Amino acid sequence: MSQKEVRVRIAPSPTGDPHVGTAYVALFNYAFARRHGGKFILRIEDTDRARSTTASEEAIIRALRWLGLDWDEGPDKGGPHGPYRQSERGTIYREHAEMLIERGHAYRCFCTPERLAELRGEQQKAKASKMGYDGKCRSLSPEEADERGRGGESFTVRLKMPQEGETVLLDGLRGEIRIPNEQSDDQVLLKSDGMPTYHLANVVDDHLMGISHVIRAEEWISSAPKHLRLYEAFGWEPATFLHLPLLRNNDKNKSKISKRRNPVSLDYYRDTGIIPEAMVNFLALMGWSYGEDQEKFSLEQMVERFDLKEGSVSLSGPVFDLDKLSWLNGLYMRELSDEGLVDALMGWRVNRDYLLRLAPLVRDRIQRFDEFLPLISYCFSGDIDYTPVAALLLPKKRKGGETGKMLERLLDKLDAMPAFEVSAMEETFRLFCEGEEWSTREVFMTVRVGLTGRKASPGLFETMEVIGRELTRRRLRLAANFLKQYKG
Ligand code: GLU
Repeated sequence: MSQKEVRVRIAPSPTGDPHVGTAYVALFNYAFARRHGGKFILRIEDTDRARSTTASEEAIIRALRWLGLDWDEGPDKGGPHGPYRQSERGTIYREHAEMLIERGHAYRCFCTPERLAELRGEQQKAKASKMGYDGKCRSLSPEEADERGRGGESFTVRLKMPQEGETVLLDGLRGEIRIPNEQSDDQVLLKSDGMPTYHLANVVDDHLMGISHVIRAEEWISSAPKHLRLYEAFGWEPATFLHLPLLRNNDKNKSKISKRRNPVSLDYYRDTGIIPEAMVNFLALMGWSYGEDQEKFSLEQMVERFDLKEGSVSLSGPVFDLDKLSWLNGLYMRELSDEGLVDALMGWRVNRDYLLRLAPLVRDRIQRFDEFLPLISYCFSGDIDYTPVAALLLPKKRKGGETGKMLERLLDKLDAMPAFEVSAMEETFRLFCEGEEWSTREVFMTVRVGLTGRKASPGLFETMEVIGRELTRRRLRLAANFLKQYKG
C-alpha cells in the first residue's frame, strides 16, 4: 500500500430506510480506516432533491451510531473538508463543471427532455446495441454553446467520454477489470437546474475530501469508467477503487438482497431485538473471515486482522441468512449476565416509554392488570405463525393468491407513506379501499390477523403505529407469502 494517509468514506443517499447494505459497506470502510490509522468520513449524498429527506438522513445516522460505527468527520461533526452534505456544496460543483467545459472535457447540451425521450424510444424499438445519449451537442462549437447558454436556453453539462477503446479499472479486490468505452455515454454532470449528478459530486468530493480508497458496492463498477475519466479530465490522481460484493437473498437464484425477500432496514433488526454487536459481527462475515473458523468476534478483533487486498474478500455474493443472524445473536445473548439481559431488554421495548404507547390501546379493554400483556403480546413478539389462523386471514369466498396480491398492493402503498402515523394510515387505507374491489371489512380483517394473529385487537392503525413500520411490513409480507401458497 502507498504511504498516503488512509481516508475512506461512506456516502449514503438519504432517500429511504437505513439499509443493511449501507451498514455493510460502512463497516468495511470503518475497519479499513481503523486498521490503517486513517480517517472514516460520513458524507451525505443528497443531490437528488426530490427523493432526499431529512428524516432519512437522521435515520441513517441513528442506525450507524446504533451499530457503533463512529466516523471522524461528517455533517454532524464537521471537519476540515466540509460541508459534508452535498446539497450545501452546489457552488463547488458548478465551478468544477465550468472548469471542465473550459478545458474542453465537457460541453453544454441543449437537447430537450422530449428529444431525449424520443431518442430512448427509438433506441428501444431498434433494440440498439448502444443505448444512451447520441452525442448531438458534442459537436457544437464552444462559441455557439456559450452564446446559447448566455441567451438563457436551458442546458445540461455532459462529460466527453472516449468513444472507442476500453477503460482499465484496477480494482483493489478484483484485479484488472476491462470495460469497453462504448458502454458509457456522455454522462450528464450538471442538470439543467444547476444541481450536479451523483457522478460529478461524488468524484469532486472524493478528491477534495482527500479520499484515498473508494470502498463501495459492486453495483458501482459500471460507473467507474466515468469516474476515472473525471479524475483524468481534472488532472487528479484517482483514488484506489475496491468494490465489495452485493449481499444476496438466501434463495435459489441468490438474487440481490431486496425488501421483498428480506427486511433490509436496520430498524427492523433493532426492533426485533438484535444486539448491535451481533449485527456488526454478522455483517463482517459477509465475504470476510476472521480465520480459524471463528465466527464470533468483536469489532476490535476484526479491526486487528482486517485488510482489503485481492483475495481477502470472497466475491461470490455473501448470503444474508436471517437464521444465521439469529444464531449469532443467541451467542451474544448468552454472554449477558441476568442484569445485562434485563438492561438490554429495557433498552429495547420492555420500558416505560413503550408501555406508555401501549396503555391507550389497552386500557378500556381490560379489567385487571393480568390481562394487559396477554392482550398485546404481539407487540413484543416476532414473526407470526399463520397456520392456526388461516381461516381468519383469508376472507370468505376469496382465494389465497388474490388475497396475497391484494396485501402486496397495500404494502406498496404503506411503503410510500413518508411518516408511519395513524392519520396518514387512515387516509392510505381509505384511498386503497376505494380503488379496490375489496370491501373495507375484508381488507381490515386480513390486515388485523396478519399483524396480530388474532381476530380482535385494539385499533388497527394505532397498533400499526405502535409496532412500527418495520414489523408491520415484515408481518404483512409474510402473511402475503403465506396466503399465496395457501391451499385452503
Ligand atoms: N451515494 C451513493 C450510494 O448511495 C454512493 C456510492 C459510492 O460510494 O460511490 O450508494
